[in-house]
Amino acid sequence: MSAVAIVTGGARGIGAATSRRLAADGFDIAVIDLVEADAQPVVDEIRATGRQALAVGADVSDEAAVTTAVDRIAAELGAPVVLVNNAGVIRDNLLFKMTADDWDTVLRVHLRGAFLMSRAVQKHMVDAGWGRIVNLSSTSALGNRGQANYSAAKAGMQGLTKTLAIELGRFGVTANAIAPGFIETDMTAATAARIGVPFDEFIAARAAEIPVGRGGKPDDIANAVSFFVSEASGFVSGQVLYVAGGPKA
Ligand code: NAP
Repeated sequence: MSAVAIVTGGARGIGAATSRRLAADGFDIAVIDLVEADAQPVVDEIRATGRQALAVGADVSDEAAVTTAVDRIAAELGAPVVLVNNAGVIRDNLLFKMTADDWDTVLRVHLRGAFLMSRAVQKHMVDAGWGRIVNLSSTSALGNRGQANYSAAKAGMQGLTKTLAIELGRFGVTANAIAPGFIETDMTAATAARIGVPFDEFIAARAAEIPVGRGGKPDDIANAVSFFVSEASGFVSGQVLYVAGGPKA
């Protein structure tokens, strides 16, 4: 039986690419998303490659749902030793128009979700004496207009990561964060739609500002996750890797 990795928000975008990549690296994959059926296509793709995979419907910000999901994964797939906290939402607005619900929703999914998932999975990692946690931060952690909620959540992910690294290191568990810049996914397509710009024009405008001259792809992030999850990264912990096609957000 192979080691088991959990990817949250794995039905699409960065999470789907990460699920496929970790399966190619030799892990069996539990794909958590809000709706189980949405995660099934990625699971089917992974199974077709010969790896085990399981689609699990859960809201990562719901404490009981997280417990149920992790227990089910451990029972049906095996004890999880890799966790990628990727599930995320945006509720962008300028501060004066941002509602308390917009604030709470974003903080709940990213931060509470990563906390609940990490707490539920760590016991399996500690039992195994080995584990890898990778948290999705963002260049928005450095501040971004219209994203008071999201930038606070993504900065919070960095603090959470460093504390997980400190607490869990002695059990053979590393924790690192990846802070993507602009990545072409449904999330950034929604941003383009919100401001009324066709997505291809939005991508071209962003690419013009990025030193490597292109937008990021989900696989660019999956490749970085693959490194943090690998045996070779065992002395790297509590770090934040900006994957943004250049040094600045
Ligand atoms: P995406 O395409 O919007 O995918 C996010 C996934 O998370 C969706 O499948 C979504 O499910 C799921 N999800 C949302 N809330 C959830 C919850 N409470 N419980 C379980 N699953 C939930 O986003 P993405 O662009 O791939 O982003 C993935 C991560 O990278 C996020 O943390 C994001 O903040 C971060 N990031 C992205 C970019 C970028 O440029 N795209 C840049 C920096 C950081 P539904 O489909 O049901 O909503």
